[in-house]
Amino acid sequence: SVVMASEKEAALAAIPFDSPTIFDKIISREIPHHVVYEDDKVLEFRDIRPQGPIHILVIPKVKDGLTGLSKESHIDILGRLLIVAKLVAKQEGLDDGFRIVINDGPQGCQAVYHIHVHVIGGRQMNWPPG
Ligand code: AMP
Repeated sequence: SVVMASEKEAALAAIPFDSPTIFDKIISREIPHHVVYEDDKVLEFRDIRPQGPIHILVIPKVKDGLTGLSKESHIDILGRLLIVAKLVAKQEGLDDGFRIVINDGPQGCQAVYHIHVHVIGGRQMNWPPG
């Protein structure tokens, strides 16, 4: 499963847009999770396999990918994801900096085909990413 495999293995095994995803079950509260923030458009929760002391995922409630969110009408939700991500970084006390990541497609190491912004912080980051 996505949880047991390494992130790369999960990404390479994932079938793009084979629905539903684990995030649908998080939105509908079918599986337990740690919600950090929720409104009518977005949900934030802690990543089950944190890559730093703080690791939060920001998702829209509408399921789509970065590629699918390509219309003029998607400007609001794409902007909202970044604004909410920035606000949660501040709320979590990441005043010395943080990393925001969107993995897209197999080579981008995307495992869950529902766009999500990773907010990772609480440790020194490196560059380039793996
Ligand atoms: P990505 O590789 O960008 O598709 O990221 C998917 C992320 O979802 C990974 O960081 C996983 O650890 C995370 N994840 C998978 N299942 C869950 C879950 N049930 N609750 C919280 N995070 C999860």
